[in-house]
Amino acid sequence: MIQTSDRFRDHVARALTDDNLKVALTRTTGLLQTRRKQVIDEYAEYGEARKRAQAIKEHTLNHLDHYLEMFEANATANGAVVHWAQTPQEARRIVSEICVAAGAKTATRVKSMLGEEIGIAEALSDAGVERIETDLAEHIIQLADDPPSHIVMPAMHKTHEQVADLFDDKHGVAPDSHDIPDLVGSARRELRQKFLNADVGISGANFLIAETGATVTVTNEGNSELTCTPPKVHIVTVGIEKLVPGMDHASVFLRLLSRAAIGAEITQYTTFYNGPKRQGDADGPEAYHIVLVDNHRTEMLGSDLEPMLRCIRCGACMNHCPVYAAVGGHAYGAVYPGPMGSVLTPALSSLEAAKDLPNACTLNGRCKEVCPVNIPLPDMLRNLRARQWDANLPTRVSKAALGAWSFLAKRPRLYHLVTGLGVHGIRLWAFGRSRIKRMPFAGGWVKHRDLPRPEKGSFMQQYNASLHATRNRK
Ligand code: SF4
Repeated sequence: MIQTSDRFRDHVARALTDDNLKVALTRTTGLLQTRRKQVIDEYAEYGEARKRAQAIKEHTLNHLDHYLEMFEANATANGAVVHWAQTPQEARRIVSEICVAAGAKTATRVKSMLGEEIGIAEALSDAGVERIETDLAEHIIQLADDPPSHIVMPAMHKTHEQVADLFDDKHGVAPDSHDIPDLVGSARRELRQKFLNADVGISGANFLIAETGATVTVTNEGNSELTCTPPKVHIVTVGIEKLVPGMDHASVFLRLLSRAAIGAEITQYTTFYNGPKRQGDADGPEAYHIVLVDNHRTEMLGSDLEPMLRCIRCGACMNHCPVYAAVGGHAYGAVYPGPMGSVLTPALSSLEAAKDLPNACTLNGRCKEVCPVNIPLPDMLRNLRARQWDANLPTRVSKAALGAWSFLAKRPRLYHLVTGLGVHGIRLWAFGRSRIKRMPFAGGWVKHRDLPRPEKGSFMQQYNASLHATRNRK
């Protein structure tokens, strides 16, 4: 469920001293960045597809009521039972009641961030149902009793060496070796029978198609199909912003999603669910429920937070964020980490509850650059900071520091004089050393890294000197 960032600073301090976390994050984010770049470079229509995706989402959000009604009518005609949940509590109650009515003892679950947001685990525990996570990464974190640390790769914080130790410890039969294929085989052995015996299967949906009433999931492991088909009841919990008008529109997003998320042209499995088992079908659930969740989404419509509803949860913004790469997802203390989470968490909880998150950003703009639906995350974070300022939320020290900076920034000569003196002072403090390990009054800057000794003179002084030298040469 959405939490708050009230312990963000403590979490960051802990994350920065976690060597395993550093290894895990560097391995994975680096690989994802390289793969994404490669497939985007090879996708000649990327720019056009991105514009089209943004336009489709904007159009759908502008007519959300119309498309939601269309979806409900078509899904109902397909045999689904459609439920509406305004809040996470309502969504949990609906899921619990369906499980109780089905007499369920076990439920398999395929990863969905909406499920985390509304607290599916709590709903199942209320209904006395054993929860079985089926995504490999979710299986890992369920064994480790960790929350997800990334929206696409929930176990990104774990190295494969840590996973091997975990499987040795928790699996009924230990893995044959610590090689990755044997670890995957061990998880498959552990989960296979549970898939077949589950009473209820719970999934999210990457997209909802208004004109057919279908829900769509994309996975790489085939666990969605195994979760949604064998049990007698299938429950889909999904945010209302996942709607697209038709199949052609969904195909635009399917091309963008896998490229942005994992650097692949397409995912291994894309499945369209169109209702319960029909006469003559070989398999499928007897009952099919769709729980459409609002949870503050309609409040975001028409506000400066509306662009966030375009998000297709690809995770590219976190894979390219230097703050996420340094501290990992758990530090954010919320279901949605990284740049998109720093915007979404205050919207789903409150600006006060998540007050550190909009400030956990260098505003370097990479998140917007890689976002497949062009969400202006840096602008939105800046707006949230301005709102925090108006609501008097920053601390006195932050206000005083920003006030002093604002005073100087409006007086360029004074600004250059003071920053020049500051640089000079730091060079003197470095006293011939190339790296600074201690700093008076600013110990936080060098607590977890060394500061290189600054070059002689400020950037502007160096720039003016080089301009002058170029002119003299001409
Ligand atoms: S904000 Fe953009 S990049 Fe980040 S998860 Fe959402 S769609 Fe992907």
